Amino acid sequence: MEKIKKYKQEIGFHALLNVIVSFFISLSSYVHIPYGGVKGAFVYIIHFVVLQFTLFGFLYVYSLSKTFFRLTFPILFTILSALAFWVYTQDITVESSIIQAILETKFDIAVDTLSVPFGFYLISAFIVSLFLMKKFQKLKQNNIKSPLFIIAIIAILSYFIAENYRFGVLKRRLPYNSFVAVKKYLEKPKMQLITPKNNVSSDKKNLDIIFVLGESVRADHISINGYHRETTPLLSEQNNIVSFKNIFTPLTYTAISVPQILTNKSITDNSITSFYGLYSILNKADFHTEWIGNQSIEKSYEAIINTNKKVTIIDPFHSVLSFKKKKDLALLDQFNLNITDNKNRISTIHMIGSHWYYNNKYTKEFEKFTPVTNSKYVGALSEEQLINSYDNTILYLDYFINSLIEKLKTSSKETLLIYLSDHGEILGENGQWFHAQNNTASENPAMLVWYSESFKINNPEIVKNLLNNQYKKFSTDFLFHSILDISNIKGFEINKRQSIFSKF
Ligand SMILES: [Zn+2]
Repeated sequence: MEKIKKYKQEIGFHALLNVIVSFFISLSSYVHIPYGGVKGAFVYIIHFVVLQFTLFGFLYVYSLSKTFFRLTFPILFTILSALAFWVYTQDITVESSIIQAILETKFDIAVDTLSVPFGFYLISAFIVSLFLMKKFQKLKQNNIKSPLFIIAIIAILSYFIAENYRFGVLKRRLPYNSFVAVKKYLEKPKMQLITPKNNVSSDKKNLDIIFVLGESVRADHISINGYHRETTPLLSEQNNIVSFKNIFTPLTYTAISVPQILTNKSITDNSITSFYGLYSILNKADFHTEWIGNQSIEKSYEAIINTNKKVTIIDPFHSVLSFKKKKDLALLDQFNLNITDNKNRISTIHMIGSHWYYNNKYTKEFEKFTPVTNSKYVGALSEEQLINSYDNTILYLDYFINSLIEKLKTSSKETLLIYLSDHGEILGENGQWFHAQNNTASENPAMLVWYSESFKINNPEIVKNLLNNQYKKFSTDFLFHSILDISNIKGFEINKRQSIFSKF
């Protein structure tokens, strides 16, 4: 009792500090989540309590160096509150692209975000932090001899235990994600791109390649591959489509699969770090190269994307984790069919696709399979709900690819559309869900090719090869070699055995 009395002031201060931090900052990561009933809500309350407990630990240790804490806390608190304001109001994702925008001052964005409520929030945060520091100054205790220090160490350890239990469970939320984002922003990419020699050329004329890079779509949930549900009704009606149902990749998350797909890195290359990028080679052969993306760019493939002559990211501050992410159809508004009259072209369209949380990836009219998920907590959902929601994303994909094909049909050029998902998805196999875990269910991504009438007329042998190869097993290595093969690239050696257009 005596002891408690002694530390009462200290406990009171840290309790108040944590309540204020949670309201101004950490709770923002929880307001957009669909809870779907008592069970889901309960799990997220526990989640929040654990997060705030670990944060107490870090805050306590931070406060041990008193002068440093007093001088830096108001600034740090105000900056984090600014990020939290955008999370509360727009569900932005705090990651390296945000840090880049802030540090490399994109003034238009800065001006856009200034508003009266934002200003009010920032000023309040700053005043509250000064008030806290005033209280802090009067504290008698607050040192490593305090029992609170031991609790703080336990709290910090809990952070690492939780992260070890499930990667990202805490660090994808405020305030942790802002520190992770700064670290990522400062990191150097592991992959180096080699500049191809100048003698690279192509004798192709009027070739348009549209490469659609999908997300988390598995081959066996596509009805043209024999899935029992009609998930691709529109594509089933299209001619000139060849679906490759035996594509394989062991790289089952975006940050590692995308750089492999877009370079000559093989799925089996682990030690080599320098590679040729697809677009660097096509640039040398005078192709028009452009990237239109609906995913915020990861450090691991940022350099590859930036080798495109034109890069458009339609919704840079919302990642797959955001509930306010733009739908993929907005990508097609940026796709202009007639930009290069005489040049060959490759346009890459990077979708958000079928990434969890599924319901957010399609609009209401694609909610054909019901009941859908109503909570983000998987434990509160049935297998049926999860698969229904997932299959609705495939219906949306069907509409998306079909709309693109209809647009491409109006061109007289030799046109190829290649769709490849970056990896598959686990849908309940071995009790697992989603991807980035060891499970073969996520290793078979969907892939299909559509070709225009003029392509068919001018390349009958290649069309024949495509049809002959469609059941063959390829790894995602095929993409790099196939695109360079069909582009008739000279001066750069490709592996013909990896080309879907080859005769075997
Ligand atoms: Zn992915």
